[in-house]
Amino acid sequence: MATNNNGKVSEYRFLLQGVPFQLVTPAEIGITTSVKEEGATFEENARLKAVTMAQQSGLLTLADDSGLEVDALNGAPGIMSARYAGEDASDADRINYLLAKLKDVPPGKRAARFRAVIAIAIPGNGVEFTEGECPGYIATEPRGTQGFGYDPVFYMPELDKTMADLPEDVKNRVSHRAKAAGKAIPILMKLSRQTAKGYQA
Ligand code: IMP
Repeated sequence: MATNNNGKVSEYRFLLQGVPFQLVTPAEIGITTSVKEEGATFEENARLKAVTMAQQSGLLTLADDSGLEVDALNGAPGIMSARYAGEDASDADRINYLLAKLKDVPPGKRAARFRAVIAIAIPGNGVEFTEGECPGYIATEPRGTQGFGYDPVFYMPELDKTMADLPEDVKNRVSHRAKAAGKAIPILMKLSRQTAKGYQA
């Protein structure tokens, strides 16, 4: 899995439980290089991360590029979600930065969505993509202690909770990543059958 983001890794360990592959991170197999996210879309960045790490590891590689799109900010932070408040900023810094940008936007106009695109790179053999979206609103202040990233300010009206209020198993039923992973599972199952028939990663 082409990420060392612990929040993502822990969600994928849960979401891909039934898949007959062992999930390892670059750090766990001694890969220390990081991939520059130079693409203009989630798809391009997911492809870049998956293909680069598949080349370096020789393993079937799943990469996730994801982020938050806020309508009142014309879709920002989008692919810049991880770097929105600068390279060394913390999750709390990014949340404060976002809330400051939205300070004059009333509750009904704070619609947003999380998006996740998964790229699965098969060494020497192409890339497959899936995607998932989760709609919500940006709250006026953070709430909840679960999850990671922008979860404390991502409010889901139908649950009357922020993403950070949700226990892991609930987030992993409703999230953008859950939807993308749900579509990735049949692809990974197909690839595992090919592996069993002699496909060499
Ligand atoms: P990247 O996919 O590594 O470029 O970074 C995605 C960034 O989007 C994360 O660092 C978070 O800031 C944000 N993000 C993606 N998914 C989630 C999520 O499930 N909850 C909260 N923030 C998220």
